[in-house]
Amino acid sequence: VKIEGNEPYLFDSDDLRILDILLLVTSMALENAHLFSQVQELSITDTLTGLYTHKFFQERLNEEILRAGRYRNDIGLLLIDIDYFKKYNDTYGHQAGDEILRNLAKLIKHNLRQTDIIARYGGEEFGAILLQSGYQTTYEVAERIRRTVADNIVPGFEQTLRITVSIGVATFPQEATTASQLIRLADQRLYQAKSAGRNRVGGSVHSPS
Ligand code: GH3
Ligand code: MG
Ligand code: MG
Repeated sequence: VKIEGNEPYLFDSDDLRILDILLLVTSMALENAHLFSQVQELSITDTLTGLYTHKFFQERLNEEILRAGRYRNDIGLLLIDIDYFKKYNDTYGHQAGDEILRNLAKLIKHNLRQTDIIARYGGEEFGAILLQSGYQTTYEVAERIRRTVADNIVPGFEQTLRITVSIGVATFPQEATTASQLIRLADQRLYQAKSAGRNRVGGSVHSPS
């Protein structure tokens, strides 16, 4: 803060004291505003991966479905779960596992559009809302993510214990008309992908008519 007068010695020490008090109040207000925005940021961002939290993801999914319904847009949902991740942790340690999660988050982000909403859905599960994406696009994107992970998730990774993911996909409004239906369907298909052997995308291969 710089205060200027048009003649010398315009301000005395009393003025300085008042200014001191004013600045103290101002700096406290600024600090409060800063802390407030940090808290807000924390509640929507997962600290490990930098992705959105589950709670925020749910809210956004509800909003986006309302919006898409109004403007007749399509939405695709992906639920991505790492295969045999417990085994990876047990073999290489939890910290190495966390590194996988960070890398996978980046990889998923890299394969989606900037406007898509990506979250850490659970411990080692990720969710993605693909805006303006029909069944075909959603399925193709899921398949691309699956293949990219299987090909190269971590540099220097052992062949014997590659990281793969299983993915469940579902689309609005073709296959589900509410957020909970959409999640349930994607979840069922994720489960199918797991029981069919993992490292695959669950969901019928053919576009629903
Ligand atoms: P599946 O192929 O059936 O998915 O087997 P899985 O072992 O991956 O089982 P599940 O999906 O239930 O994953 C649970 C494991 O994920 C437990 C734990 O070892 C690991 N995990 C969950 N959250 C974290 C985390 O934040 N960090 C690390 N390193 N591991 C986590
Ligand atoms: Mg899981
Ligand atoms: Mg898993």
